[in-house]
Amino acid sequence: MSIEFETPKPIAQIQFVLKTVAENMMRSQSRAFDENEHEIPFSYIEFMHTAMRSMGGGSLAPKEEKQKEGGELKEKRPPIAYQSLAAQIEMLSWGDVGFYLVTPGGGLGAAAVQSAGSAEQRAKFLARFAEEKPTFAAMCMTEAGAGSDTSAIRTRAVLDEATKEWVINGEKIFVTGGDKSFKEYEQFGKGFVVVWASIDPTAGRSGMRAFVVEAGTKGVSVTKLEHKLGIRASDTASIVLVDARVPYDNILGSPTVEKTTTGFKGAMATFDATRPLVAASGIGVARAAVEYVKEQLAEKGVEIRYGLPRQKMTSIERDVIEMEIQLRSAWLMVLKAVWMADNKKPNALESSMSKVKSGDVVTKITQKAVEIMGPLGYSREFLLEKWFRDAKITDIYEGTGQINRLVVARQILGYSGKELR
Ligand SMILES: Cc1cc2nc3c(=O)[nH]c(=O)nc-3n(C[C@H](O)[C@H](O)[C@H](O)COP(=O)(O)OP(=O)(O)OC[C@H]3O[C@@H](n4cnc5c(N)ncnc54)[C@H](O)[C@@H]3O)c2cc1C
Repeated sequence: MSIEFETPKPIAQIQFVLKTVAENMMRSQSRAFDENEHEIPFSYIEFMHTAMRSMGGGSLAPKEEKQKEGGELKEKRPPIAYQSLAAQIEMLSWGDVGFYLVTPGGGLGAAAVQSAGSAEQRAKFLARFAEEKPTFAAMCMTEAGAGSDTSAIRTRAVLDEATKEWVINGEKIFVTGGDKSFKEYEQFGKGFVVVWASIDPTAGRSGMRAFVVEAGTKGVSVTKLEHKLGIRASDTASIVLVDARVPYDNILGSPTVEKTTTGFKGAMATFDATRPLVAASGIGVARAAVEYVKEQLAEKGVEIRYGLPRQKMTSIERDVIEMEIQLRSAWLMVLKAVWMADNKKPNALESSMSKVKSGDVVTKITQKAVEIMGPLGYSREFLLEKWFRDAKITDIYEGTGQINRLVVARQILGYSGKELR
């Protein structure tokens, strides 16, 4: 199979449009929304929602398109859907990663429905993102004492046989977009959160299932918004469920536990799809930092002389070239992981690898950029110090760097999760 390094035309076109959005709607407001944590950037959200709807959806998620197959029209994902998504996320995060995270349209919550839901559930829950008002969805996996070790979750879902409803109890923390997804803001459409719970605690991971919990469900409340180091335009919520009743059909996956199936596969399938996208987001932040450094150096008459023998370069030139090498290699790993997703090849290894690499690269690049720029890098007058703070999350959510290294090691060495932990 041939390898093509040119950016496909449709992707280049959308990148061009998003760059304008990034420059005019994100960078211009970055500082304000960083300083005023928990304020909601309505103008950006409404603009993006309108723009995405005009392009046939209300979400960044890969859309199904009607394609001809054997004379029949079938709903199919476009062949470069994930590649396009990664490129869009990279560009939006280049603008502002906190703003990217408040782009309406479902984020991880929708990704979980996409990966673990049935065709009916996908149609029911994902269609609402294209409706008139911007709508959000979030994913609630993490609990106090169950972050990296997701099998330790204590949230329970019990079937009430009389009413045929699931009754959920538990406490979820660090839910990205949890507030916008669950609270019923009049500016937003009806969102949902996807809550992971155990339907059979004796079955371990096999008993884990995800449930769509609609905004406003009785017994569910947003109890806390985190004050954070970075990505401060994005809300991170704690959500408590007390005897929350959820319709029977809102379970994603099988309602019964069999030894051969594991509900956790749904979570893993979600992460395989989304980890390269988190990696792409980190790369956007890293690229912003590298470009800023180069622009500032150029303004001071310092051009990077590519192609010189190493001993003739200045240390700044070596630093900048090293940053660019790391940035490009991280991007190539993302491209491989999304190419595999687009071609329906199992990509657990490449997905985790790309996330590990991007997490390392973005934290190191932004740190180096602050170092090279000195006071310009440390001052709140400029955005570099913010990117330095925004960078670290790439290495934390959707599996920390350590956990993704474990996934990589298991895949390469052929160990199970039990054998290598
Ligand atoms: C801003 C933000 C947004 C988030 N958004 C979401 C969200 O939308 N939904 C959601 O469900 N969760 C979300 N999370 C939670 C995130 O996924 C967890 O924080 C992460 O998985 C780590 O879990 P933990 O915080 O419990 O850390 P722990 O699991 O306690 O880990 C602490 C440290 O120990 C290391 N460690 C743990 N186990 C091992 C091991 N076996 N080997 C080596 N090192 C290990 C970790 O890498 C880490 O460095 C978010 C977190 C943040 C900070």
